[in-house]
Amino acid sequence: RDYQLLAGDDAEAQQRDGRAKQVAAGRLFRLAREEAWTLALASLVLLVASVGQVAFPKLAGDLIDVAIQQQAGGSAEEARRTTSRILSEILVVVAVTGAADGLRSWLFQSAAERVMYRLRVRLFGALLQQEVGWFDRCRTGELTNRLSEDTRLLKSVATTSIAQALRAAAVCTLGLVMMFTTSWLLSTLAICIIPPLFLLVWAFGRLSRRYIKEQLAASAAAATVAEECFGNLRTVRSFAKEGAMRGSYETAQGRTLHYGLRAAALEGCFFPLTNSLATGSIMMVLWYGARLVIAGQLSAGQLSAFVVYAIYVSANAGEGGRKGGAKLGLAAGALGASERVFQLLDRQPLLDLAGGKQRPVGVPEGGELRLQGVWFAYPSRPAVWVLQGLSLHVAPGNKVALVGPSGGGKSTVVALIERFYDPQRGSVLLDGVALVGQEPVLFADTIAANIAFGCPGGAASQEQLEAAARVANAHDFISAFPQGYRTLVGERGVRLSGGQKQRVAIARAVITSPRVLLLDEATSALDAENEHLVQQALDRASAGRTVLVIAHRLSTVQAADSVAVVVEGRVAEQGGHGELLAAGGVYAALVRRQLLVPGGAEAAA
Ligand code: ADP
Repeated sequence: RDYQLLAGDDAEAQQRDGRAKQVAAGRLFRLAREEAWTLALASLVLLVASVGQVAFPKLAGDLIDVAIQQQAGGSAEEARRTTSRILSEILVVVAVTGAADGLRSWLFQSAAERVMYRLRVRLFGALLQQEVGWFDRCRTGELTNRLSEDTRLLKSVATTSIAQALRAAAVCTLGLVMMFTTSWLLSTLAICIIPPLFLLVWAFGRLSRRYIKEQLAASAAAATVAEECFGNLRTVRSFAKEGAMRGSYETAQGRTLHYGLRAAALEGCFFPLTNSLATGSIMMVLWYGARLVIAGQLSAGQLSAFVVYAIYVSANAGEGGRKGGAKLGLAAGALGASERVFQLLDRQPLLDLAGGKQRPVGVPEGGELRLQGVWFAYPSRPAVWVLQGLSLHVAPGNKVALVGPSGGGKSTVVALIERFYDPQRGSVLLDGVALVGQEPVLFADTIAANIAFGCPGGAASQEQLEAAARVANAHDFISAFPQGYRTLVGERGVRLSGGQKQRVAIARAVITSPRVLLLDEATSALDAENEHLVQQALDRASAGRTVLVIAHRLSTVQAADSVAVVVEGRVAEQGGHGELLAAGGVYAALVRRQLLVPGGAEAAA
């Protein structure tokens, strides 16, 4: 269910879902095809290693026969010569088998590593192309899970599991061939065990597949709970919800446990059953083989070799069966995982990020902003028209303040200008835009990298960085750090104050000298000193630019050329502060009810 959510709940996605299931196996194969030569070579050495392994019992049987013949009165000299020859053969086979085994393991693993690397990078790129509306609908935990867990599962199946299964199959087949060339009568008896074994394997595989799929889904759900809890820890703590979160996590993990226990019980039944079947059959083969030797139809060496082959075959069928059953389950899980991965890889973004340019909308000259008759509903809530025919014009170099009751659509206007979404009707025309958000988000990187993030290519000279930082009132505090612009911020670096973060964000916005600046005024209280510095930085950044600001302060509104009052997705009033106040409409009411804070931080707090 969770994965459906991820793929989007529209019918179109469900249809894709069905098709994706069919092509997943083919796509996996095609991914592996990029490693075709490596895999072909790996399969070849795998075959060599299997032949080597199957040669040992034959050589051992030869040794036993030489010894018995000598005891029965053969020439001691010739027996000694034969044993020496067999010994040199053994040494050669040991060396070749060892080398082939090592080569096989290395080739398979490195091929899988490369396939996973490509898959992850491609998947990350595909995810990054998706429109913001899609990210609204899926959870970050699930996306990162797809990237790490699903691809890891695919890799483990592609390497160890498939290589081991191939190996078991090769040894099994070669062993059977050796058995039948030695004695078809004995072989027939020995392989009577195989059909019941396969029946067991089949049943086991079916059940195990289901359990592993369920367990995977359950553990993804648990990971989401943990992620949400730790991500929102402050909220959890401030509402004292630790108990409830623990409960949800316990429930989610409980499901994981439930299916894990079932899988464990299944293994518990399966293992002894196949084992006793295998052992029993080998003892029967020995008993009948002893009678054949007594009757002179088989040599003792041949019987010994035969028994070892029978053990090989049953062990590889049983082992291949037991593990193979689990592997089948794993493979099914991987197939499920690959379905989801390919679904994500295939998803066409509804909003094209042509060549990484986010805002390829009509470009009026010289920093003008124009919204015309815009109707918009969020993709996650298509029934609610958030903007209802909104029109707004900001002339080049003008400052327009957006005000209005919460939920009126101010942030949505900004999101459309940023082209996080496209409107269903109407048009958005704009020019080179930079955004300073209400809660600036910095990356866990150096301050320099965070400021240069604003540049195309993400690189800026020291002069550019400093110029931007000076405009943003950030240069002084940055220089005060021992490592200056190379100071790390975020989890492993220094903790910046809210005001400092905001000033870094302003530097990031102005480094490319955008013609239009979108500002979302902080409602959270900063201390007076920071408040002043941020305000000054914003004023300086705004100078000579077209500015659209979501305003919460009276001082900002008073300084603007024009105020647009956004109510229920429309511009209800527009004009100068004094003009609107005199008109006695919505704006006058907002000011009267002190919804616009006079001054700044002190008053807000
Ligand atoms: P304002 O900025 O004026 O407070 P918003 O533009 O944030 O208003 O919100 C306008 C309406 O759109 C609100 O009803 C809000 O619940 C809704 N909304 C905002 N963001 C989203 C979103 N990502 N998905 C769905 N609805 C949203």
